[in-house]
Amino acid sequence: MCDYIEFKSDPVHSRREREKARQLRKTAWWQAQLQKGVCHYCGRQVGAANLTMDHVIPVARGGRSIKGNCVPCCKECNNQKRALTPAEQILNKLFTDSPNI
Ligand SMILES: [Zn+2]
Repeated sequence: MCDYIEFKSDPVHSRREREKARQLRKTAWWQAQLQKGVCHYCGRQVGAANLTMDHVIPVARGGRSIKGNCVPCCKECNNQKRALTPAEQILNKLFTDSPNI
């Protein structure tokens, strides 16, 4: 009876949101994001060619392909991020950056 809560691994959700992401990449809004050339996560100027669209809340975690959830991301950050949510990334950073733990 709880099937509707299991959106995290819902293949219909993933397919729909990935298709929406594809459409979003064609918009003037996204092109403008790319032209800034700045990674949302590390803030480095890497140029439009090195940026990809990233979901702040991953689609696999129920994230949507809306402007508020899609950001330009460099390859390094994309590799580091994988399927973690922002909260998990902050926790990861706290642990890995603290020399005294
Ligand atoms: Zn980055």
